[in-house]
Amino acid sequence: MLKESFHNHTWRCNHAENTEREYVENAVKGGMTRLGFSDHAPYVFENGYYSGFRMKPEQMPGYFETINALKEEYKGQIEIYAGFEAEYYPKFFDNFLNLISGYPVEFLIMGQHFIHNEMDHMDSFHSSESVEKLKTYVRQVAEGLSTGKFACVAHPDVLFFSGDKDIYQREMLILCEAAKKYAVPLEINLLGIRDGRIYPNPDFWEVAGQTGNLVTIGSDAHRAADVYDAASYEKAMELIKRFRLKFVEPGTMITGGHWLG
Ligand SMILES: [Zn+2]
Ligand SMILES: [Zn+2]
Repeated sequence: MLKESFHNHTWRCNHAENTEREYVENAVKGGMTRLGFSDHAPYVFENGYYSGFRMKPEQMPGYFETINALKEEYKGQIEIYAGFEAEYYPKFFDNFLNLISGYPVEFLIMGQHFIHNEMDHMDSFHSSESVEKLKTYVRQVAEGLSTGKFACVAHPDVLFFSGDKDIYQREMLILCEAAKKYAVPLEINLLGIRDGRIYPNPDFWEVAGQTGNLVTIGSDAHRAADVYDAASYEKAMELIKRFRLKFVEPGTMITGGHWLG
């Protein structure tokens, strides 16, 4: 049964809907015991570049106030946590950590939607045969993991490589080994299942199984109705069985101490 999800968005990222309360209500209705919000984190770039798919820095106070109020209100019914989904952008990462340092951030999950950084407009999710791009993605995620700031890698298989399977698996092995080294779980993304996206990619999870990675799940809800998604959860569990993956509940990353201390 789907008990926990720490990957859920809010309206502040400009592409999600409903109120936080509706997310919580649906989680409670589904019998979930832990719910984490991890909206697309604010990031400060340069030269006036504006990012349209994440909250603005000035929205952080409202984000934490809203979630912390719900945390109190629903005490005894469900545990609620506040975090962010963030890319690892080497050039801007220190600024990012400074930006969020004054807020009660309980965890960060890495969602590497772009290579280098998004100002270069090289996204992870469009089909490409470029081995260089694949290698850069892997290097960047592995380097992000080495910072110790991330509790989980969301959709590690978001990179859409349309080239040779052997090359794909050879490179993804490097990512999986890094995640294993730092004991950071890899997330099977329920939004990918729900939307029929290219992830979860079985070729990736085959490697994670052989590497012995910790594997978790995330609803990646962008609307309240998707927080509790039993159908996608069942499909994720099939994948876990098929590749003999080591499942851990998403909350393990909180209780296990992997969060922004
Ligand atoms: Zn994401
Ligand atoms: Zn997400």
